[in-house]
Amino acid sequence: MNHSTIEPQVGGGPAAGSQAPASPDTSPIPASAAPTGPLAPIAPAAPFAEAKARLSAVVDEARDEILGLSHRIHADPEPAFEEVNAAADIATVLRRHGFAVEHPAGSLATAIRATLPGGRGGASPRIGILAEYDALPGLGHGCGHNTMAGSGVGAAIALAAIAEELPGEIVFLGTPAEERGSGKAIMIAEGLFEGLDAALLFHPCDRSHVASQPLASEDVEIVFRGLQAHAAADPWRGKNALDAMILLFSSVGLWRQQLPTHARVHGIIQEGGTAANIIPDRTRAWFMLRSPDQAEYESMKTRFRALVEGAALATDTTAEVTFSGGAMTMHVNESLEARWVANAAAYGIVDQGADPSSGSTDMGNVSWVCPTIHPELAIAPEGTPGHSILFRDAAATPAADNTTVLAAALVAQTAYELFADPELVAAAWRDFRGDSGTPG
Ligand SMILES: [Zn+2]
Ligand SMILES: [Zn+2]
Repeated sequence: MNHSTIEPQVGGGPAAGSQAPASPDTSPIPASAAPTGPLAPIAPAAPFAEAKARLSAVVDEARDEILGLSHRIHADPEPAFEEVNAAADIATVLRRHGFAVEHPAGSLATAIRATLPGGRGGASPRIGILAEYDALPGLGHGCGHNTMAGSGVGAAIALAAIAEELPGEIVFLGTPAEERGSGKAIMIAEGLFEGLDAALLFHPCDRSHVASQPLASEDVEIVFRGLQAHAAADPWRGKNALDAMILLFSSVGLWRQQLPTHARVHGIIQEGGTAANIIPDRTRAWFMLRSPDQAEYESMKTRFRALVEGAALATDTTAEVTFSGGAMTMHVNESLEARWVANAAAYGIVDQGADPSSGSTDMGNVSWVCPTIHPELAIAPEGTPGHSILFRDAAATPAADNTTVLAAALVAQTAYELFADPELVAAAWRDFRGDSGTPG
């Protein structure tokens, strides 16, 4: 590891270390910033350091292509299932680098499956490089998925450049609708993940860590239906669907006292009536329920339905509840995580440990299909909230660009280890099968 080439860039917060260049050996706080210059001069971690250095050199050469893609997607944010321009852009770049591109892939118009066989032949291993590219409605790339598109494509470009010396197959999966709808769950159901030996990606964060504990989660749409009436002249003839909605929010607020600390329930009202002088006959809300425990999650779901029914009963309205887009907890793969941490350490990235609290991701669903990691690297000062304007703006800064390029190299290097070392593939599968086998 060559610390002298590393300069802290994004560690602005008190917990992220000093802004001044300092040796991580003397700093009590780990540095977590990506190198600011080319990666090629920095010696990668063993094993296969020579091949890994060639991969990072290809990533350096493709820097403009990688960051061009990231910035174009950042400037043109498209929400879940509508990532038309992003997907077309990604497909074009992959074709340019020799991939056979299926786009759309399966039933999702903005999904991509691109493959490139290794020159050494054989069906295995098949290593999946994943990329997300959906934005948040009304916010833009507040989760920084533009950097994931750039790094995923960058890793694919690097591996394609040395495909002649690889066995098996490089499989790039462009996975839409992470923020809502769990696009990966749909792609899994349609067989697009079949035959994979591993699934790798990178997600931007305000800290750097490979371990994560995403929550089981679903979207819930609730529609209350009542009866319109004049709100002053004869309100007693109406049935107030907004009252039902307000009761539901009150019930959820009281329910929180009985929920375990790590469970989450949160929602917004999307339709709350049309005018103050009309008793609302229809209201609609979008809730999300989340839990780190799949079994506990199922009981939350039952209770939530009861709260909706209670609100309808109290207001003489009717209710319709629709669950969709289930994301699962993460099936941890320690063998793959260890390789990522080692590869990242060569570039001065010290793993800071899992975030104390977490959101949800459909990468959890993938983790129950094949060995999977969900590593995160800092693109913003520690403490920058996710899903915010601050994080959105951070996702197109020079610090984010450096991290995006580093992530491309690390995904490619970790994939290379899997291509080159059948024992690592076997160990990853042993980890996969070694746990309980059911989401927990
Ligand atoms: Zn995200
Ligand atoms: Zn997000």
